[in-house]
Amino acid sequence: MLGRRRPVHIGLSARIFHPETGGTGLKTKTLQVLEQSVAQWAASRDTLVLMVPSVLSDGALMRSNIRIRDYADYLDGLLLQGGADVSPRAYGEEPLKPEWSGDPVRDAYELELVHEFMEAGKPILGICRGMQLINVALGGSLYQDLPTQCPGSLGHESHEYDRNVHEVAFTADGKMKDWFKVPGGKVASIHHQAVNRLGKDVVVEATAPDGVIEAIRWNGRSFVCGVQWHPEFHHLGDDMLDCSPLLEAFLNAAR
Ligand code: MN
Repeated sequence: MLGRRRPVHIGLSARIFHPETGGTGLKTKTLQVLEQSVAQWAASRDTLVLMVPSVLSDGALMRSNIRIRDYADYLDGLLLQGGADVSPRAYGEEPLKPEWSGDPVRDAYELELVHEFMEAGKPILGICRGMQLINVALGGSLYQDLPTQCPGSLGHESHEYDRNVHEVAFTADGKMKDWFKVPGGKVASIHHQAVNRLGKDVVVEATAPDGVIEAIRWNGRSFVCGVQWHPEFHHLGDDMLDCSPLLEAFLNAAR
C-alpha cells in the first residue's frame, strides 16, 4: 500500500424503515438502509463509502458520547440518498393530506447531518429527497405534491420508477453547466415533491422543461449541491446524462 493515496471517506445517510403495525421479524425493528446502487455509484471512484447511522442523543437505548459532529469530523463528505418525503412541518407548513406528512424522524437526523457537515466546511451532495432536504435546511420550502400544486407539470413520477425519464437544461451561467460541458440531457427523475421557495443563497442549476427545479447549489463557502434526479440509475440507459462530472466535482471538494 506504500504510496497509495488515502481514499476519500464519504458518509451516506440512511434510509429509515420504521416498525410496521402488524409486522413480524425484522418489520418490528427500525431499519437503517443503504441502497446498493447509490453506494456503488459513490464508490465508483475508489471512494470509501460508509453509512452514518442515526445517533440517539436522549440515551433511550445505550449511552454514547459519539455525536453526528464526530462523523462530520471523521468523514470527508456527505451524500444524502433518496427516499421518504420531507415533512412539510420542517418548512413551516401543515401537510395538505395525511399521506404527505413525510418522515420527521429522518428529517431531524439529516438536518443535523447537513448542519454539522456545513459547520465543518465539508462537501454535501443530495440526491432526490437529499436535494429537497438541503433546500429546507437552508430555509427554503417544497411543493408538497406537484400534480396538486403545479397542475400541468410534466410526469415527474410513474410506475416505471427508475425508468421515469425526462430532459433537464442547465442554467446558462451556472456551475453545473461548466462541470458537465453540455447544455442538458436525459435524467431519471422520480418525485412528487419539488423545490418551491429557494433557501438562503441557494441558486438554480438545472430545470425540467416545465420549469420544475431539478438541481440546486448553495452559493456559500463550501460545496453543497443537490440534484432531483438519480445519477445512480443512469447506467440503465445508454442515452442518459453522464453524471461523472458531478461525482468528480463532489469528490474533488472532499479531497
Ligand atoms: Mn423531475
